[in-house]
Amino acid sequence: MGEHILTINAGSSSLKFALFTAGALDSVAVGMIDGLGTNPHFVLKDGSGQKIISDPLEGERAIDDHAGAMRLVLDAVAHHYPQAEIAAVGHRIVHGGMAHSAPVLVDEPILSQLSELVPLAPLHQPHNLSGIRAAQTAFPNVPQVACFDTAFHRAHPFVNDTFALPRSFYEEGVRRYGFHGLSYEYVTGKLAEIAPFHAKGRVIICHLGSGASMCAIRNGYSVASTMGFSALDGLPMGTRPGQIDPGVLLYLMDQKGMNAQEISDLLYKSSGLKGLSGISNDMRDLEASDHPHAKQAIDYFVFRVRREIGAMAAVLGGLDAVVFCGGIGENSRLIRECALEAMEWIGIELDLDRNRENTEVISSDRSRVRAFIIRTNEELMIARHTAWQLRAQQASTRRSDVYA
Ligand code: ADP
Repeated sequence: MGEHILTINAGSSSLKFALFTAGALDSVAVGMIDGLGTNPHFVLKDGSGQKIISDPLEGERAIDDHAGAMRLVLDAVAHHYPQAEIAAVGHRIVHGGMAHSAPVLVDEPILSQLSELVPLAPLHQPHNLSGIRAAQTAFPNVPQVACFDTAFHRAHPFVNDTFALPRSFYEEGVRRYGFHGLSYEYVTGKLAEIAPFHAKGRVIICHLGSGASMCAIRNGYSVASTMGFSALDGLPMGTRPGQIDPGVLLYLMDQKGMNAQEISDLLYKSSGLKGLSGISNDMRDLEASDHPHAKQAIDYFVFRVRREIGAMAAVLGGLDAVVFCGGIGENSRLIRECALEAMEWIGIELDLDRNRENTEVISSDRSRVRAFIIRTNEELMIARHTAWQLRAQQASTRRSDVYA
């Protein structure tokens, strides 16, 4: 079966993975264990999307932590693809801090540097790093590549990188990092293939999933993001509130006696669509519900997306293209329609039929700004970076052999 690249994406309650051929980066397998800590479920599909395993992991098979999930994934890969020789493992790492604006080959100094960033992303970074450790144990001497969600945004101008706090906070790293960078990078590349002229212009990408953010892009480079220091800022999400007046947090501490853990749980687990609707964090449930609170939660979500479209267009000095991606962005006709309704003033004219059919281009032929749906593929982006790093490493080994 030859050389393969394995990608690992360890989230707070899930572990996604994918297997690609190392040369053409053809998809061989893709899978995930979600519901870690609650109702774990394991799914493995082959490269064509055919299900090979769907296992509720009940009873003795239950898995409640990432280390167990990682063992299960590695066993499944070894069992189903015994001839797949793993040439490199690529990891999605949520935080690269100030130092990393590109993927890196992992070594001990890099690992300890990334460990120092745990306080900046306590819910994700520890799982990301334990994923690296587990893969190092399973595949000793195989290169591990860290691909950062923050890297795509590191060239932000100062005004989009800072808060108006005393200067020392900026110097120590309290900055607007921005996230979902691997998704934005993939989508930006895809846009350059399907609409090269627009991709060179002023673009807003709306990554709308359980986690949601938007990115303003000029000539392929991120200039602003709705997410900031953490993945809490900006748009409302499944269970996160998005932008919130910090005065609310002071009120919760002073008047309600809430401690940091309680506030963290409130912000990460019980706010957003779930908190506002009191029904569900899943947009599909809200769209299907006729409860007025479900409608209000959708209205709030759409309001924030529209507001950011206006704000980002102002930052970009105009607009050439809008792109939707993520579970909601790729699938919800309703949200796209509400987000782009009556936007002719900015140059967007939605074609309702195209939008209903989920086609790649959803703006009308008359629309000055083109609107697209692009299915994101963070796993493939990780695999590409990993393959590039692998080739660079092999080339440098060959060079040192020649000059030795
Ligand atoms: P994650 O941030 O976990 O990667 P996804 O990008 O997979 O999230 O998006 C998950 C969300 O997409 C779900 O919570 C659901 O609300 C939404 N979604 C998926 N399909 C549809 C659909 N057909 N209509 C509306 N929302 C959808």
